[in-house]
Amino acid sequence: MAAFGRSSFLVVCLAAISTLLLQNMRHDPMLEGISSGKTRVLDLSYAISDKLVPWPGDEKFFEAKVNATVEKNGYFTRSFWMLEHYGTHLDAPAHFPPGKTTVDQIPVKQLFGPAVVIDVRAESGQDADYQLSPTRVEEWEKRHARIPEGAIVLLRTGWASRWPDVQKYRNQDAKGKMHFPGFSAEAAKLLIGRKVSGLGCDTLSIDYGASEDFAVHHLSLGAGLYHLENLADLSDLPETGAFLVVAPIKLEGGSGGPVRVFALLP
Ligand SMILES: [Zn+2]
Repeated sequence: MAAFGRSSFLVVCLAAISTLLLQNMRHDPMLEGISSGKTRVLDLSYAISDKLVPWPGDEKFFEAKVNATVEKNGYFTRSFWMLEHYGTHLDAPAHFPPGKTTVDQIPVKQLFGPAVVIDVRAESGQDADYQLSPTRVEEWEKRHARIPEGAIVLLRTGWASRWPDVQKYRNQDAKGKMHFPGFSAEAAKLLIGRKVSGLGCDTLSIDYGASEDFAVHHLSLGAGLYHLENLADLSDLPETGAFLVVAPIKLEGGSGGPVRVFALLP
């Protein structure tokens, strides 16, 4: 009787353990769907080369050199040099004071979050100096829901269609001033209040091109958010429902750096 009690207890324990193991193997359906193809994954980063659109002013922005060749060495390696803010990149808070956190210190959990896509292609098409207003953000919230804490807010201006044409993408006037859309300081304040993790755009900068004081950079980086700039074409993203994985280079002490951004679509 005692022996039977022990073995049935053991069976119950084993059953409980295997149930727990099975439960642990079951992930979120969105993650499980990646390998089966049910979840679409968009890569929102441009491949890095010397053909991208740099911020005006730097003569050198990217260089790659072959170090070893298969013919000579039996293997292939290169070395490369680039600006931290070139191509699809992340601005760490330390990029603009009073922001302090460098790219390697951004808390990992801040790099994952639901994507909030605000579509301003119509406005941007009519006015290259368009700045996202807080009213437009509130309109988005009326149509969907309040922007959740930890969201990553992307401004879809349609500017990616001009990439990588330097003239069209920078859209500089005779005085060299750039004209492309961006967030307004007021909209940034509202989004900081919503405790979002980061802001992103499909242009050269979160601040609109003609900005001279980079007000949004100071505000949002100062509040500990990060920026994603020169994101690739955002046209396949839904306004809500996508999940972003943001993977910047872990460069010690960096003001920012190249970033790989993936959007998971249910
Ligand atoms: Zn930047």
